[in-house]
Amino acid sequence: MACVFCEYASGESPNSQSIVLKTDELVVFRDIRPASQHHLLACPAQHIPDAKHLTKSDIALVESLVEAGLGAIEKLGGNRLETRVGLHWPPFCLVKHFHVHLIWPESELTWLSRLIFRPNSYWFCTVPSLIEYLNNLPD
Ligand SMILES: [Zn+2]
Ligand SMILES: [Zn+2]
Repeated sequence: MACVFCEYASGESPNSQSIVLKTDELVVFRDIRPASQHHLLACPAQHIPDAKHLTKSDIALVESLVEAGLGAIEKLGGNRLETRVGLHWPPFCLVKHFHVHLIWPESELTWLSRLIFRPNSYWFCTVPSLIEYLNNLPD
């Protein structure tokens, strides 16, 4: 079964020109439907279907995704304070490969995008909330 985000990570994607950063652990690339000037997705190279498949031991991975994504936003001329960062909460995931959205600047989000990427709604979760959720998982 082909996963488009795994293709980005393995370098086999036909859209590989949209990759802005790639390491053994993760890949950061442009969203095909940008919600603002810069809209990046940071995802682990490993196929993790969604946030509910993460465990406490993945907190460091989540943090490196955010750090890599924000670093890439800055390299593109944006700044982290005006970047909307978060993730879809299952079952509201279009692509079943865990990823973090980084959207800059927040002020240019359209009305619809503000709704889709509304922090801590039922469908979009911020990273601090995700980390809190992971920390509270039973061992
Ligand atoms: Zn995948
Ligand atoms: Zn998404």
